[in-house]
Amino acid sequence: MKAVFLDRDGTINHEESNYLLDLKKLKIFDESFEAIQLLNQHGFKTIVVTNQSCVGRGLLEERDLQKINSALKKKLAERKARVDSIYYCPHHPNDQCVCRKPKLGMFEQAVKEHKISLKKSFVIGDREFDIHAGKAAGCKTILVLTGAGQQTLGSLKHSPDQPDFVASHILDAAHWIIRQTASQ
Ligand SMILES: [Zn+2]
Repeated sequence: MKAVFLDRDGTINHEESNYLLDLKKLKIFDESFEAIQLLNQHGFKTIVVTNQSCVGRGLLEERDLQKINSALKKKLAERKARVDSIYYCPHHPNDQCVCRKPKLGMFEQAVKEHKISLKKSFVIGDREFDIHAGKAAGCKTILVLTGAGQQTLGSLKHSPDQPDFVASHILDAAHWIIRQTASQ
């Protein structure tokens, strides 16, 4: 299976200035519905992989994070956009876990559970660690300029890990992905 790994905050939904801690503040970008529908229609698994250190920092209960994730999935599904799985890392950066991006624990879990070929897959995100993780996993990477994307574009300037494409938003990214697979 081919997949598109999607970051959550700043990629699918608006990023809060600090962390998204309140379900009522979940605001999905308008472009996300059509983007995910398109990826569904073109045979991609859509997998959300999100660092949520707010749990490890004691700012949010893990069950409340799960409620936010379920609400995201449900709101997307109400408009025919299907997310296949949501993986999250709840750990504090100091925990040295294997799942916090740019580490690949969440990707490896998805590969096992969904039989994904990373070589045929894509990563969309607005942070440096999304691009680094995608490169390390062997996926094509897309930086979106929503969320922290503009700052990330600047900070990646001197990095050896360059995104394969810079998109204005998630729908622009989805169109690019479909063009790539059509030309193969
Ligand atoms: Zn973790």
